[in-house]
Amino acid sequence: LALLYPAVQGLGELALTVSEAAAGSDRIIEVLRARPAVTDAPAAVAAGQGRGRVEFDRVGFAYPGRASRPALHEVSFVAEPGEVLVITGPSGAGKSTLAKLLLRFYDPDEGRVLLDGADVRGLTRESLRENVTVLHQETMLFSGSVRDNIAYGRPAASMEEIIRAAETAGVHDFVQDLPRGYDTPVGQRGRLLSGGQRQRVAIARAVLRDAPVLVLDEPMTGLDEETAAQVMAPLGRLMTGRTTILITHDLRQVPSGARVIGLRPVPRHERIRLKRAGVPRLARDRTGAGHGASRTGRQEAAHA
Ligand code: ATP
Repeated sequence: LALLYPAVQGLGELALTVSEAAAGSDRIIEVLRARPAVTDAPAAVAAGQGRGRVEFDRVGFAYPGRASRPALHEVSFVAEPGEVLVITGPSGAGKSTLAKLLLRFYDPDEGRVLLDGADVRGLTRESLRENVTVLHQETMLFSGSVRDNIAYGRPAASMEEIIRAAETAGVHDFVQDLPRGYDTPVGQRGRLLSGGQRQRVAIARAVLRDAPVLVLDEPMTGLDEETAAQVMAPLGRLMTGRTTILITHDLRQVPSGARVIGLRPVPRHERIRLKRAGVPRLARDRTGAGHGASRTGRQEAAHA
């Protein structure tokens, strides 16, 4: 973890606001606009608290209206319970799209996404969110108290549980110095806290939610070293015992010992083939399933 420069931001059910100064603000705005394109299946069941095994099985996906430019094609990988799996690749390779499919913001057009062996299409979205926490670049808080922000997502949590999560995330120490402790308002978008403090509150929130799967999407982008140092250890504690999928285009950020999977943009010839098939959505191009080389491959983590 020594090379982690994490900044975190909640996604989905976690409160989101936009810091204009954030290096990744375009992405954040895009995420905010990402209204779920899918709803629960009529017979959807709750996922339950599983072990956190994530599998992508020959997944193909094109965003609505972008059939000629599929974001993913034939992507397969497994993240075993408790392991750190790094997904790397250039801009546009589809890394962030993986998180959206895992949380069912969209459904794949080909293949399956599985959580603990169950196709996520058969699971309720609410239970998916209970099993998967996604953290992004910049911490996003709402204008309640520190306590409210930590408890968001688990409002029934006791004060004792909130404090325990705050201790794990390195929040408890600085809270003692705030004028009203845990009742101190954090201001709009958490602006009354420093960047590092905001990020630790977001980590505390994730600790309290205690989901077995953690997705860190480009967590280190745009952070200064001081902020990085403040959140490094808390983030490491959050990752402990969870399946962590770390999405990054920067191999210097790969924790030692992590397994690394490379993702590259869908090759041009593949896009042309799919386009020639004349499909408005990949789903109608079932003939394409199984064609082409797998886009995934293992790389050594040593080149971090
Ligand atoms: P980066 O490292 O730049 O964040 P990435 O590997 O995470 O890139 P994605 O954000 O998953 O890539 O995008 C994959 C492809 O899907 C890109 O071509 C992108 O332009 C496209 N894309 C992403 N989000 C949307 C969207 N909401 N609507 C349409 N196309 C999208």
